[in-house]
Amino acid sequence: MSLEEKVARLLRPEVRAIAAYHVQEAKGLVKLDAMENPYTWPEALQQEWLQRLKQVPVNRYPDATAGELKQRLRQACGIPAGMDLLLGNGSDEIIQIIIMALAKPGAVVLAPEPTFVMYRNLALAADVDFIGVPLNGDDFSLDRKAMLAALDQHQPAITFLARPNNPTGTLFDRELVTRIIETSPGLVVVDEAYHPFAEDSFMEQLGDYDNLLVMRTLSKQGLAALRLGFLAGRPEWLHEFDKLRLPYNINSLTQASVSFILEHADVLDEQAAKIRAERESLYQALLNMEGVTPWPSRSNFILFRTETRPGPEVFEGLKEQGVLIKNVHGADPLLDNCLRVTVSTPEENGKFLQALRAVL
Ligand code: PMP
Repeated sequence: MSLEEKVARLLRPEVRAIAAYHVQEAKGLVKLDAMENPYTWPEALQQEWLQRLKQVPVNRYPDATAGELKQRLRQACGIPAGMDLLLGNGSDEIIQIIIMALAKPGAVVLAPEPTFVMYRNLALAADVDFIGVPLNGDDFSLDRKAMLAALDQHQPAITFLARPNNPTGTLFDRELVTRIIETSPGLVVVDEAYHPFAEDSFMEQLGDYDNLLVMRTLSKQGLAALRLGFLAGRPEWLHEFDKLRLPYNINSLTQASVSFILEHADVLDEQAAKIRAERESLYQALLNMEGVTPWPSRSNFILFRTETRPGPEVFEGLKEQGVLIKNVHGADPLLDNCLRVTVSTPEENGKFLQALRAVL
């Protein structure tokens, strides 16, 4: 039997069917593909941080409960009293844990689409059905009728709502999201990965609904390398999920670094404010450009459609000009000729706009 045949015979078909999460090579390019924060910390702060890291005992396992870090997150992120926190090696890991915990035979995971691909990928990896409900094609808002009908028909164990949504940048309507939480038979995870750029949250509503969970990440705030996400919600849920968390999943350098920067949260807040302001300039520039149509965004990226040349060609052209963005054409029927660009510094945004003009 050839190795290919052995692989085909032994592997679970669901795993064979998954497309690996694709990370693009970015060396030498202006990197505007992954919603990273372009800003670093002031020199004095970096020095203080390095001093702190010096004290981390790397020969020891991490604090298994990450108690100090959780305390800092509670204060910095306004976690309501009585709610627990679950930490993940990125929020990706939390999505995986939630799905693993609820993946009973016949269970369904539901999300509007297009959205963050890991909800679907991790559902399929856990061998549970995934139902994608198309967003409204014109403005990428939730399709009220379709969402409520799908909840009724499929009775999902988990509904993921990325708010703001990736890759569209849309902030789903608050009233409709509330309605979805109220009518859902299962858990609703409001994924607030882009919260610093949206300034709108369901965190304060945690106390109102026992099926609501709120997830966030530090990745988009300038800490992507550290891999820290968290889930806030009722202890009854989080206590169960915690059993599936691998021991010591948050390494000591991440615990120390995030605790440190949360003592200086104003630095992150100022950077987010700069990015929000830049987002508006970039949106206006795209709006005024012939040949592209951007959508308004409440996050740190902008989705746009190319009207005069195919999106994939424009994407390649930008790369040739030294600018890497994300080509989402082909990822969903609603995303024909759509590209997604991360909002960066005025200088990098300028380079992107110049390259785009040249390509178009
Ligand atoms: N949720 C959404 C909506 C995202 O867009 C992303 C990253 N692209 C994540 C979660 C995962 O982020 P991380 O694993 O870095 O916390």
